Amino acid sequence: MKALIVIDYTYDFVVGKLPCGQPAIDIEERMARLTEQFAAQGDFVVMAVDLHRERDELHPEHRLFPPHNIEGTSGRELYGKLKDVYEVNQSRIYWMDKTRYSAFCGTDLELQLRMRGIEELHLIGVCTDICVLHTAVDAYNRGFRINVHADAVASFNLPGHDWALTHFERTLGADIYRNGHRITM
Ligand code: ZN
Repeated sequence: MKALIVIDYTYDFVVGKLPCGQPAIDIEERMARLTEQFAAQGDFVVMAVDLHRERDELHPEHRLFPPHNIEGTSGRELYGKLKDVYEVNQSRIYWMDKTRYSAFCGTDLELQLRMRGIEELHLIGVCTDICVLHTAVDAYNRGFRINVHADAVASFNLPGHDWALTHFERTLGADIYRNGHRITM
């Protein structure tokens, strides 16, 4: 069994309060298809979604970013076709709130993976060089094998996006895929 970790593909991160914009809109179809595919295969699909509370001054992001993904707001809803795929497959997808960049930080993600004997992770979502990167680094340090789908990650920062893809491959030993085929960065 493999796991697909779907990271932060919400309205706020695509076109809302802290938007990646066009690069994130461009991966909408691929995000939906990969999620659908992994769920249909019976793999473990995790929807890792940033959660913030209003005026949380102790949170380190408070000083760094405008408020985003606030609990109970529409900004936290999944964006576009991914929302439809989630609704149809809800019983087979593990929704997991997270409050830091990494999907491992302060969550039970590692326990959920170990319980299922999963060693192979596939990462998709936004931003390539922030939450996807921090999740990949934590996965590396915990000994998971990492796969990143280059056509289903995006960032507002193109040099950061390109750098992160190279870092996944050369420093974290990840396999990088486009259209399901392995590529070399
Ligand atoms: Zn955040």
